[in-house]
Amino acid sequence: SKTRDRLSVFLDSGIYRFECSNVVFIDPVRVLNLSYTRFRVSPSAYYSRFFDPKCSGEDRHETKLSSSSKKRKRREKKPHSLNERERAADQRHQQARPMLLKALECLVAATDLLAIMRNLRSVFCPLQCRELPTPLNEHSFTELCRVWQAPFYEITLNFPQHHEPSRDAGSLIDPCTGQRIFPVFNNLVVNETGSDVDAAFLNEKYILPKESCFYMSELEQIHNLIPAEADCGFNLIVVDPPWENASASQKLLYPTLPNRYFLSLPIKQLTHTDGALVALWVTNREKLRNFVEKELFPSWGIRYAASFYWLKVKADGSLISDLDLFHHRPYECLLLGYLHGEGTNSEQMSSWRAVEHDKIIISIPGDYSRKPPVGELLLEHVPGPKRARCIELFAREMIGGWTSWGNEPLHFQKSSYFIER
Ligand code: SAM
Repeated sequence: SKTRDRLSVFLDSGIYRFECSNVVFIDPVRVLNLSYTRFRVSPSAYYSRFFDPKCSGEDRHETKLSSSSKKRKRREKKPHSLNERERAADQRHQQARPMLLKALECLVAATDLLAIMRNLRSVFCPLQCRELPTPLNEHSFTELCRVWQAPFYEITLNFPQHHEPSRDAGSLIDPCTGQRIFPVFNNLVVNETGSDVDAAFLNEKYILPKESCFYMSELEQIHNLIPAEADCGFNLIVVDPPWENASASQKLLYPTLPNRYFLSLPIKQLTHTDGALVALWVTNREKLRNFVEKELFPSWGIRYAASFYWLKVKADGSLISDLDLFHHRPYECLLLGYLHGEGTNSEQMSSWRAVEHDKIIISIPGDYSRKPPVGELLLEHVPGPKRARCIELFAREMIGGWTSWGNEPLHFQKSSYFIER
């Protein structure tokens, strides 16, 4: 019956906590759905990859990738002596390996969960659900953000007509229709209501979760998010930087930035007086890990606390690639650290549960480089007030209760990623 309890918690929350306490499985679709009232995240749009291509018939890109990974595998079989950096990377991998294998064992043993996993993609698609139309001409926020006309682009939020909007800076309210118009770039766009709203921008429809806001801008404008008063700062800061990456496909997805740009991110200034937990996504490149440990965290004033692993599996519970493939590991790391706020004293420091080491988060990946929503797993480790103030930097999506910043936080809010309840 314990298993049944775990399953029913999973069905409600999207989070399955295995008996091995440091391992969880998450279904991002269920987690994200907690931010919506009128819409649902479309599982078939979220899980566009890693479901059996024979069933979906549309995973051509994935098939291509796996044939190139076969080539890679062949190349990697050739014995070659590792240089110093590769040895360090291999050492890190060897350390993580037994934990990752144990986590995978936990998953394979959870047969009830595995049965649900196979259907995650189709589970919410009963006939009464209406897929929202796919927009015809998609535009790129990352390009629009930079043009001189950027300040003139507007987004219209369609609030339910009975809703009495509070007076916000920078928005015009139409009392008859409930519509509110905001400049879309370099401006904080807020849905402070307890229900999701739909929004229109350049002939496309977007869905904004309840109690959420976004600020869409280039890096130069991030300073506008620094709160005037420090007790309005953030207690949880999740960062997924556009690290430079050798892979060409990555470059086509979004612009990247050299490491030195991240040194000047105003993490300290964004932090709440009571301090913050900072979670940083990193790739497996050893050079990057060194940069984060030796330069980036120190320059942000962060004390390293723990590493989490995101283990990527397919719908059948197997890894998306060979665990030992050198340049294509089936996992990524989330590095966690604490930043003391000005008002943090040692008594407060002991009033929340510090984050534990080596947690393993298993999920089936969504779109390219889309990270699973980890906020819920981190909340109990966040210092400061109980309703934590949360921000995601370089976000491509929005979450209820969060501020999303980046040059395309509306990317995954397009209506084609949703179905109407
Ligand atoms: N966490 C995201 C997700 O799960 O979908 C992925 C973030 S992706 C690694 C990095 C993001 O940073 C991209 O959306 C990219 O467009 C954005 N970005 C790149 N250069 C930027 C800049 N100069 N200012 C703001 N955002 C930028």
